[in-house]
Amino acid sequence: MVRIPSGQIGSGDGADAADRETGREIERLPPGAVAAALGVDAVSGLSRDEARARAGLWGPNALRVRPPVLAWRRLLAQFADPLVLLLVAAAAISAGLWLREAVADGSAGPPFEALAILAIVVLNAAMGFIQEARAERAVAALRRMSAARARVVRDGIRREIPATELVPGDVIRIEEGDAIPADARLIEASALRAGEATLTGESVPVAKDAALLAGEASLGSRRNMVFSGTAIVSGRGVGIVTATGMRTELGRIAGMLEETPEETTPLQAALARLGRRLGLAVLVIAAALAATIVLVEEICTLPALLDTLIVAVALAVAAVPEGLPAIVTAALSLGVLRMARRHAIVRRLAAVETLGSADVIASDKTGTLTRNAMTVRVVVTASGRCLLDGALNGQDHDIRLSGEAEAALLAGALANDAALQEHEDHPIIHGDPTEGALLIAARTTGLDAALGRFVRLDEIPFSSERRRMSAVCREAGRDGLLVALKGAPDVVLARCTRERVGDQERPLTPERREAIVAANAGLAGSGLRMLGVAHRRMPEGSRIAPEDGVEQDLVFLGLIGMRDPPRSEAREAVARARAAGIRSVMITGDHPNTAAAVAAELGIAADGAVLTGDRIDALAPEELDEAVRRVSVFARVAPAHKLRIVRGLQRNGLVVAMTGDGVNDAPALKAAEIGIAMGVTGTDVSREAADIVLSDDNFATIVAAVEEGRAIFSNIRKVLRYLLSSNLGEVMVMALGIVLAPVLGLAPSPGEVVLPLLATQILWINFVTDGAPALALAVDPADPAAMAQAPRPRGEGVLTGAMGWSIAFVGLVTASCSLFVLDSCLPGGLVEGTGSPAYARTMTFTTLVLCQLFNVLNARSGEVSARDGLFRNRWLWAAIGVSLLLQAAVVYTPILQQGFMTVSLSLGDWLFCAGVASIVLILEELRKAVVRTWRAAAAAA
Ligand code: ATP
Repeated sequence: MVRIPSGQIGSGDGADAADRETGREIERLPPGAVAAALGVDAVSGLSRDEARARAGLWGPNALRVRPPVLAWRRLLAQFADPLVLLLVAAAAISAGLWLREAVADGSAGPPFEALAILAIVVLNAAMGFIQEARAERAVAALRRMSAARARVVRDGIRREIPATELVPGDVIRIEEGDAIPADARLIEASALRAGEATLTGESVPVAKDAALLAGEASLGSRRNMVFSGTAIVSGRGVGIVTATGMRTELGRIAGMLEETPEETTPLQAALARLGRRLGLAVLVIAAALAATIVLVEEICTLPALLDTLIVAVALAVAAVPEGLPAIVTAALSLGVLRMARRHAIVRRLAAVETLGSADVIASDKTGTLTRNAMTVRVVVTASGRCLLDGALNGQDHDIRLSGEAEAALLAGALANDAALQEHEDHPIIHGDPTEGALLIAARTTGLDAALGRFVRLDEIPFSSERRRMSAVCREAGRDGLLVALKGAPDVVLARCTRERVGDQERPLTPERREAIVAANAGLAGSGLRMLGVAHRRMPEGSRIAPEDGVEQDLVFLGLIGMRDPPRSEAREAVARARAAGIRSVMITGDHPNTAAAVAAELGIAADGAVLTGDRIDALAPEELDEAVRRVSVFARVAPAHKLRIVRGLQRNGLVVAMTGDGVNDAPALKAAEIGIAMGVTGTDVSREAADIVLSDDNFATIVAAVEEGRAIFSNIRKVLRYLLSSNLGEVMVMALGIVLAPVLGLAPSPGEVVLPLLATQILWINFVTDGAPALALAVDPADPAAMAQAPRPRGEGVLTGAMGWSIAFVGLVTASCSLFVLDSCLPGGLVEGTGSPAYARTMTFTTLVLCQLFNVLNARSGEVSARDGLFRNRWLWAAIGVSLLLQAAVVYTPILQQGFMTVSLSLGDWLFCAGVASIVLILEELRKAVVRTWRAAAAAA
């Protein structure tokens, strides 16, 4: 049965006012009546069937998005590029010339040149379209992965579902750091505060509770409601969804979710700038070249002038690496997908570039470096220790606890928000693993029945700043209230005045305090995570808020030590990071001794040096800068210290990747160059602030992400090296060929312009070599040696001086090789030949293409030999194969021969071209060998 929730009555504009009115009624009902009004049981939530029925009625809980741009529009957009328009103009001019000729002598064949240019325009557009579509799919896949989730109770069971599946009437549980997934009326709240700036503009968090609202209230003062799009700053609560999707307050205001504008990363911006500058330079060169042709050859007829113009356009188009932006986007987004497969989800593309420069990875301990799979190992009370080692496999109920230990574990299980759910004979923990471990310990030691006597009334929640939490309970058959408190042992001890010994309560003497502190330090030193537990009885009706002094004058019950084993892969990841010149830093709220023990186990620091939050507070900024240079382990820190640590590291000139999970970690995540949030245990607020989200919360994933980040950056450099050197080669062939025409034996045939290559040939080279090989370079697998190098210096541009020189070198060698072949095929010149101009051009054309294909092997590294990992990239070889086939097609297919003015070549011709073209590879290998030797010598000196 679907009961219509009154908050959602009506549809369409006319109903909105009434809708809002009835929504307000919900706010004026007492919590008990709210559930009835919304047709749900507040404890067990909706049933699955009911939720499905309501989803059918109300639709998904999502804001409407603008319809995506249609494919044909995107295809059309490919033609809006100035370079493409230039080419279309060139094709039009060529067609005009052909028409003139056809009218004049009536015997011309099809307009091959114009058709060839247009074919290339279409092929380029298709390639651009495919590259863009690919990038878009990648982005959409990423968006799906980072979709929001909500915690609901359905069929009496707590579960996590995608936030889009929420329906009116769903009972949702919210806590610190959650982004609210829908509008909801609170039926339970403790210390709940929400940041509602997105809705009301009010930057101070507002307190929330489940109480009735009297009279009219503005959005900002509707205290018993939480609204979609806002976030919980502290506390926890339970609410019943009153409105979803477009019917939420956010939906009414926003109307529609704007597609997030496409982000341009600094690298993309830098490349776009480079592209513009190159374009300008190329235009100048092309104009100069056209002028040279006109002047040197004394061209005065219109057709010859227009021919020159077409060549200039072709050259300009060929020289500008117009595929670069699309290829860079592809390299970035495909790399980002690869990272997602390795569990690192990138939220801001710019972080990918920065990852390669990371000098420090500052990571939380619990859950990231350790498994967050806690088990209680020891309970220490006034009369001794009770070891639970090995007994906690969920079946052993035979442990005998002393009354003291029983009281300690009971308090731990009462001051607790986790829940256990049976799953195939194993309890599954919902909530904080620390608290879950306490519930499992209580169950294994047979305390379930004792726990059942208590009813929880209220709580003061845990936060990393308070480092403690308390629950207020009533015990069956006993007057008054019991406050159970657990927290960091020093915090708990400071609030106790007595301790439990046997059945008695005794004053806590200074000696006993010292003994407890020493026991705590000793156990922490063996790597255990320590908790203190205490309780206090209070008269019925006492006020229960922290400021009322509830958490004072307590009876200390004992210490509880838990084991949270380090992740097996974390140790190796720390070592890998070190080899890559990256320091790992551990940050934890735990005891310094626990931190030092775990850090030593993981190989982060063996010297035992730990800086605590208190110490950080006492240090002057310059002292802190000094300290963060030396110390890699930080303990007993609160989120505010994290920000100071990041800033200290940054003042030392280091690029910092920092992890965080809590709501208060957001400032540190934003301040770090790379903010990393936890996908499993992290809060929505921290995820919003982060650049990268780990879908497995694992430290090793950060190191994997750095590796991928380095690979992506290095691939973009490879593409750049390849495209720029190849294009420079093309320009130099044309420029030097025209200037040196008499020396090379390149004589003009009557009525023709002297050209080493024809316009269509240049465009073809551009299409064949800039397409598939460049794209294949963009997906080159990560070089294993990349993680043996120091991080790329911050601020080092994508194009370095050394790269510039090697690009110029390759360009010159390419031009020399091609022009040598031209000369040797023509009569006269430096090397005597016998071929026709068409043959000589076909040979030059083929040599230039082969040079580019050899050069693609060069481009894989600026220093490492092309032999290293020569066959690692299958795509590259496929691209080379395709390029060779295309070149063979243009040389042998009659129709293409006409379009591109080529003639068939013999096997000997091909071998000659290949032999000469291979010089590009050989000389570049020699250059790299010299650079390597020089570098080794410099390192040895
Ligand atoms: P990390 O920053 O590595 O995740 P952490 O999770 O151990 O460290 P906090 O959660 O801030 O850091 O915990 C700090 C201390 O607070 C712990 O050492 C423990 O003593 C105590 N503590 C942790 N969780 C709870 C909890 N749920 N209830 C009460 N006390 C807790």
